[in-house]
Amino acid sequence: MSETNAVKALKEQILMDPKPGIAKLSEDVIKSADAFCEGYKPFLDYSRTERDAVKYSIELAQKAGFVEFDPAKQYKAGDRVYVNNRDKALMLAVIGTKGVREGAQLAIAHIDSPRIDLKPNPLYEANGLALFKTHYYGGIRKYQWLAMPLALHGVVCKKDGTSVEVRFGDDDSEPCLCITDLLPHLAYEQVEKPLRKAFSGEDLNVIVGSRPYSNDDESELVKLNVMYILNKKYGITEDDFLSAELCLVPTYKTRDVGFDGGLMGGYGHDDRCCAYPALMAAIDAKTPEKTAITVLCDKEETGSDGNTGMQSDFLRYFITDLAKMDGVEGHHAISKSKCLSADVNAAFDPTYASCFEAKNSSYINEGVVISKYTGHGGKGGTSDASAEYMGEVRAMLENNNILWQVGELGRVDLGGGGTIAKYIANMNVDVVDLGVPVLSMHAPFELISKVDIYMAYRAFSAFFA
Ligand code: MN
Ligand code: MN
Repeated sequence: MSETNAVKALKEQILMDPKPGIAKLSEDVIKSADAFCEGYKPFLDYSRTERDAVKYSIELAQKAGFVEFDPAKQYKAGDRVYVNNRDKALMLAVIGTKGVREGAQLAIAHIDSPRIDLKPNPLYEANGLALFKTHYYGGIRKYQWLAMPLALHGVVCKKDGTSVEVRFGDDDSEPCLCITDLLPHLAYEQVEKPLRKAFSGEDLNVIVGSRPYSNDDESELVKLNVMYILNKKYGITEDDFLSAELCLVPTYKTRDVGFDGGLMGGYGHDDRCCAYPALMAAIDAKTPEKTAITVLCDKEETGSDGNTGMQSDFLRYFITDLAKMDGVEGHHAISKSKCLSADVNAAFDPTYASCFEAKNSSYINEGVVISKYTGHGGKGGTSDASAEYMGEVRAMLENNNILWQVGELGRVDLGGGGTIAKYIANMNVDVVDLGVPVLSMHAPFELISKVDIYMAYRAFSAFFA
């Protein structure tokens, strides 16, 4: 062996493989990734809010033999159940041969995404236009939501106890809604302001109408006309907005991106690009040893508070019910459980390279990204996965030929973020973040790689096997 060959061999033996991830994949694997994404696109197109995602997921699950969980019943290995938490969060379980006696395998993703919600009293008229007042939801960059077509999704609960679902503006055949932006000609003062101050939350007002109800000499006839249309269409009156959850979301469909179509652009990849693989891993799971549980949760983007977020006890109660069935204490089953917190990470963006640390960032087409910790300012507010659990997850990925990488969220002290991982860790569960790298995270049109989302599916499937 020549000296250079010996160095080469040594490098291969003890250094990391520098070859780009996607270059290690066969054409067949890439084809499987593309095929998997054809199932994801309709899921994402439909699932604009957590309610939409729950509805679509239950439909898929029922077709695959999942039935609503009944805590009074005894289930056997291979049975498939789901729990619908208030139409906003969902748990699916495939009962294992050992049940939860040695803990459950948990994959938890969130199905809420940054968006713009209506205020409880939204409708007003000004200068011949009807508008909605809004209160944004989650970490948005406000300027990204101006001057683009928006749809309205949600539910209105009426005084008589009935409720009506609203899905307005998705179809090209119907109108859409829109928030206005200031013309550059009159933005000389605005552009001098720091970005944080240039766009205010109270300015995110949505145009919802422009024609008066009649030519009568009355006030607020444009507003009246909007309410008249809504009354005819949904049977609602103005005070029904008080008991409604209505969200403005982008109208555009998921699209392939790049001349090679290797990426997908769409609204709400964070975190539905992890929710869908976790859902499909449950649907495709063969009878596991340990009960496999996929949780699709709400409220991650606002801190996981509330009864449909992961700071709630709904998962704890579910595992406790399963444990009772198996004749063990709930807290024993929980303490032995393992979790993949299925959430996205920021993919390295060459345009904003200075915001990342290149050696510890995740990259498009390098596979699922494991984030040992998140947080900000010296690992503040994060659960830091143990070396032991990292080792376990890494071995699982390697043994199943799953393309994976590690990634931190950007440069130290630049900013930060969190996931549901810490709330699960606080239940005394081993947990680590594992998900898909995203470009333009939290923008109304985010980008992910088809290969990476497929590798997330493979990872959750291996975790459930
Ligand atoms: Mn997320
Ligand atoms: Mn997010």
